[in-house]
This record gives sequence, C-alpha cells and structure tokens, in this order.
Amino acid sequence: MFNDNVINRFRGLETPFYYYDLDLLRRTLAACSQASGKYGFHVHYAMKANFDGQVLKTIQSYGFGADCVSGNEVLTALKYGFDKNKVVFAGVGKSDKEIKASLDADIFCFNVESVQEMEVINELAAARGKKPRIAIRINPNVDAHTHHYITTGLDENKFGINTWQLNDVAEQLRKSANLEFIGIHFHVGSQITDMEVFKSLCMRINEIQTWFEDRGFTIKVLNAGGGLGVDYYSPDNNNVADFESYFKVFHDFLNVKPGQEVHFELGRVLVAQSSALVSRVLYVKNGQRKNFLVLDAGMTELIRPMLYQAYHQIDNLSRSPENVIDAVKYDVVGPICESTDCFRKDVELPQSYRGDIIAVRTAGAYGQVMASGYNLRDSIQSVYSE
Ligand SMILES: *Cc1c(COP(=O)(O)O)cnc(C)c1O
Repeated sequence: MFNDNVINRFRGLETPFYYYDLDLLRRTLAACSQASGKYGFHVHYAMKANFDGQVLKTIQSYGFGADCVSGNEVLTALKYGFDKNKVVFAGVGKSDKEIKASLDADIFCFNVESVQEMEVINELAAARGKKPRIAIRINPNVDAHTHHYITTGLDENKFGINTWQLNDVAEQLRKSANLEFIGIHFHVGSQITDMEVFKSLCMRINEIQTWFEDRGFTIKVLNAGGGLGVDYYSPDNNNVADFESYFKVFHDFLNVKPGQEVHFELGRVLVAQSSALVSRVLYVKNGQRKNFLVLDAGMTELIRPMLYQAYHQIDNLSRSPENVIDAVKYDVVGPICESTDCFRKDVELPQSYRGDIIAVRTAGAYGQVMASGYNLRDSIQSVYSE
C-alpha cells in the first residue's frame, strides 16, 4: 500500500487525511464480483461503511447495487449512478419523508423492520398510487460471535422482526394491498470471520423460508445481509478477504429454489483495507512510565478504537519497520479534549519523532463516515492513489 513514492508524496501534504489505494479497492471488488458471480449471487454495497464519491463511483462501475440506511443514502446512490433496480432501503427508523422520497425514486426494495413500518409504507404507497417491493428483516437468532456492540441478529434487539412475530407479519401482508412481498432479509452482525456463523444462518434461512412457503407465500429473494470481516491484524498479508469461501458456504447450505435470487449486502469487507488514516506526530511526551505520541488526528477522524475498542494496526511510515532494535512502547493518542481519545496503548514502534508520518491501517470502513466536527475540527480530506 505504501511504497517510497507514496510516502514521499505524503511528505508534501497537509495531514490528517484518508488515503485511498484505488488499485487495492479495484482488486477487492474484482475478487468479490468473481466469487459471487460464480453462483449468480447479487451483491449490494452497504454504503454506510464509506460514501466517499470516488469510492462509490468505483464500486458502481463493477455493477454492484447499493444497500442504503437513510433517504440521503438512497439519493446519493442514485446520484452516483447506481441502478435504481439495485437500490435497497433498510433501517429500523425510516422517516415518512425518507419513505416518500424512496417511493418516488422507484427503488428495488424496502427491507422492512417492523409490522408497524409495513402499515406505514402501505399507507404512504397507497396515497401515491405505488406498490413497492418489500422484504421482511427477520432476526434469525444466530450468534455472530462478534463484539457485542456490533451483533444484531439475536432476539431482543432493536433490529428486525423476531420469529415469534411472524404470524402478525403474515396477517399484515395479507391486509397490505399496496405492498409486493418479495423476500426475507437477514443481517446477523459485522466483522464475522467464522464461516460456521454463516452456515448457521443458512440453516435458519431455510427454516424460515419453509415457514412462509407453508403459508402460501412465494419468496423471490433470499437476502443474507453482510457482515463478512477483514483482518485488522495483518492488513498487508491479508488485504483481500476470502470471498471464495464465504460465497461457497451459501452455495453449499442455502436451499435456493429455481428462479430465486440470492442477495448480499457487504460493506466493511469491500472497503476497509483500501484506506488508511494518515497523520503526523505533533508531540512526543516521555513520561516516567509511559511515552505518548500525540497525533494530529484523533477520535474526530477515526472513532472506532474509542467507540468499539477496535484494533487498528499503526505504522510509522517515516521510520523503517525493520528498525525494531530501538522499538519503544507508545500510547498513541489524539488531540481531542477527552481522555478516551487514544488509538491504542503500548504500541511498539521505532523511536518516533515530531513530524513523523503515522498510518492507522484498515480504516476504510466506518472511519471517515463517522468523522465529526467536535472541537470545531477541520473536516477530514480524502487523498487518492495516483
Ligand atoms: C451495516 C449493514 C450491512 C453491512 O455490514 P458490514 O458488516 O459492513 O458488511 C448490511 N446490512 C445491513 C442491514 C446493515 O445494517
């Protein structure tokens, strides 16, 4: 990701910024497209992970659809050329305004998360003479074995509809003349690297599909959501995820009927590795028991370590990594007036100095999109590979 030319280029740039390796992004997209295409699976990009314009254009150019979680994401996807027949609107709290805008845009599908939402979309659609396609988001009660902050597929969760409510769903579907029911939708969590989780998901999807079919419903779309994880610990050795194994699980275990489509909504795994947060060391503070590197980037630029205790590899691009003889442990912190504003404690780095360029790796997903203006910080810029 960083050769000498790239690092030299950084020396002339103001920090902090997000650096995008568009070549790595393209290789990732090509790998995903190839592996999913083998089985005729459809992939929608979950654009909440990263909605940088250049990133969206690149993803769109590979023919992916867009999975959106707000009205503005729907409009942005359309603006960047995503085919409206491949735009899906999900989310637990869609406002009337957002629903109306998406109805007017004639998007592919609404992923509906409650019985009340079905009623509301049905009413708003009737008033506009529309009949939108909907899929029902169901909690499969599969434990994603991921961090509890990012698990979503268990009962007693704000997301989706629990299986014990399915009778109400069936009744509401029969009453809703302005809804076209096309499928069932699942999303069990994020940063999942254990393929057994996806296998369990397949089994639950098969059962729930049978439940609907037994009651006379036709399922055209099985949507298995997203959640495939990336390797935050070895961004250089494992920069493209194992899409082959992932899609093969669904091919092997999902009970796909003739004519049925299988959809996925991948976010993180498509964009995480291709971007890094690049910043400079402002100050080195040597204490009695601790050393601090104070960077010019903090939780306002990348909040994942502070919000989810997420691990990111941290590299000093100004010093040779082979130079471990003089390795020093630093708490790598940001400039924000919060004591949680720390990227990681006890990071082993070569002896570091004011002005050194530091890269926080695997920052392409849920990084720049969560940036904030707290402390009236400048908004973070994007820099692209040449
Ligand atoms: C966030 C989200 C995704 C994408 O999750 P990743 O872990 O980034 O792949 C997919 N579907 C839904 C419904 C989501 O909320």
